[in-house]
Amino acid sequence: MTGDDDRIRHPDPEDRLVLAPDCSRCPALVESRTRISWGTGSRDANVFVVGEAPGAGDPDAETWKGGNHTGCAYTSRHSGRRIRRLVRDLGYGDDCFFTNAAKCHPENDRDPTETELTNCRGHLETELEVVDPAVVVTTGKHATATLLAFEGIELDGFLDAVCEPIDCPTLGVTCLPILHPSYQEVWLSRLDLSDAEYRERISERLP
Ligand code: SF4
Repeated sequence: MTGDDDRIRHPDPEDRLVLAPDCSRCPALVESRTRISWGTGSRDANVFVVGEAPGAGDPDAETWKGGNHTGCAYTSRHSGRRIRRLVRDLGYGDDCFFTNAAKCHPENDRDPTETELTNCRGHLETELEVVDPAVVVTTGKHATATLLAFEGIELDGFLDAVCEPIDCPTLGVTCLPILHPSYQEVWLSRLDLSDAEYRERISERLP
């Protein structure tokens, strides 16, 4: 762990916004999850980050074990720290809420099914009502698709939507799709963007 990473705060499990402690709407995910990974962060946040679903995680890690083990969204060693570092660097470390579209880990890190995303959309809607953010930053194609489903919007291609704000009048927010932190390097080169240019684009579109 670098000194820079040391300054990324791990969320306090007591801070979780637990909506249904034993939710069992998705039978396959009840089997595959260790814990439900609930959202954490400021309940007054302007920025609301949505990922896809928690990965398997590492129960033997010292701290960043992943949401499947901590019960807190975006607490994996790689993706969790990376997105939290980005948000902090852009000045929103204390003005952000982190959650996932599906809050339970799917076996072998498969994508959540449409049914599972639909099942969990009610929890996401409640989180949005509680936090009432200005901008919802969706990390990756699946998180973006599940947010836009509230609006009946389907994307033709995800890459064209990266860093392009989408008005969501039903939710009363702006959706800002960004790259999934796990695949950021690969896709930045496809977009012909440097990391600094990418960060600048995101920053320009935040409140
Ligand atoms: S993914 Fe969401 S809806 Fe499905 S069991 Fe987990 S918490 Fe419940």
